[in-house]
Amino acid sequence: MASKTDIRALKLEELTEKLVALGEKSFRAKQVYEWLWNKGARTFADMTNLSLELRTRLEEHFAINHIHVDEEQRSEDGTIKNAVKLFDGRVVESVLIPTETRITACISSQVGCSLDCTFCATARLKRMRNLNPDEIYDQVVAIRQQAELYYGRPLTNIVLMGMGEPLLNYNNVIAAIDKITSPEGLGMSPRRITLSTVGVTKMIRKMADDGVKFKLAVSLHSAIDEKRSKLMPINETNKLSDLVSALQYWYQKTGSRVTFEYVVWRGINDGDEDIRALVKLCKKLPCKVNLIEYNPIDAGPYQQADADRVAAYQNALEAVGIVAKVRRSRGKDIDAACGQLANKNLAVVPVEG
Ligand code: SAH
Repeated sequence: MASKTDIRALKLEELTEKLVALGEKSFRAKQVYEWLWNKGARTFADMTNLSLELRTRLEEHFAINHIHVDEEQRSEDGTIKNAVKLFDGRVVESVLIPTETRITACISSQVGCSLDCTFCATARLKRMRNLNPDEIYDQVVAIRQQAELYYGRPLTNIVLMGMGEPLLNYNNVIAAIDKITSPEGLGMSPRRITLSTVGVTKMIRKMADDGVKFKLAVSLHSAIDEKRSKLMPINETNKLSDLVSALQYWYQKTGSRVTFEYVVWRGINDGDEDIRALVKLCKKLPCKVNLIEYNPIDAGPYQQADADRVAAYQNALEAVGIVAKVRRSRGKDIDAACGQLANKNLAVVPVEG
């Protein structure tokens, strides 16, 4: 049986083209689109203002895929980790992070990840596939419902800091964000969305050219090329000098300050020369730094640096006027913290072929 097209992965224009090719009037596409996105239809039979004939034809050609939250794990600090089952049985994770003033959704952009950051649990999974725009969007919808249900508060922020590298699934991520921010979708402000990347320089320039309005975070972890390449192999082809110039370009185009995410590991990047290199890099562009706590993923070589070394980083940055915050992790007890998303408790469907 030929596999059906995931209708929610199509943009309105693409859906219109497909329906016209099937001999339908173009306004039908708009009706179908409204059913899918505004009225939350789960089957074509639900689309009651369409003729039975059209509904049958849609059924023949398209599938309506929805995610399904298979398992919710609650942390003692209130964080909720979701195992999100996709239509093909694969699983990604999403996290709800409550604070006094915010509720943040941390969402995934790929099943697994193709980058081999040596300290990250998701890297062990390898990349299985990109998420479709609707699969990214649906993770937000699910967390929005949990925020209301469990906390009686609205979802306020979104971070693309779950599994995967969002800039290696750029088109789908942008399509999802468009939907999240559009009045017909969730109407959220793009200023409350942060995309986190390892620093794919070509795509940072493209985003700047595309005039996106969300915020950008870059996982830096070292400002010394040699060290960063060992921690994050992407650095071999996206060197720090190129990263800095891409970020300068980003700032010039968007006026938005980048946030660097930085973990300090004992004996790896906690020396004075590491601090000096970071300060030097940060002086080159408007930025701030989040010093994030390491979440152990195995018995490997990485250990959280001593508090005085993290403080030394913070002091050195603040001394030159750069905002640096020390971030404690949330949801550690349920493996929901940064870098821990790896479907530990779930069978991951193997890659075909
Ligand atoms: N691929 C993107 C999106 C993932 S964000 C990116 O790398 O930015 C996940 C964040 O958690 C990144 O900043 C990553 O460097 C960080 N991280 C990964 N493993 C970690 C770990 N074990 N402890 C703490 N942070 C980790």
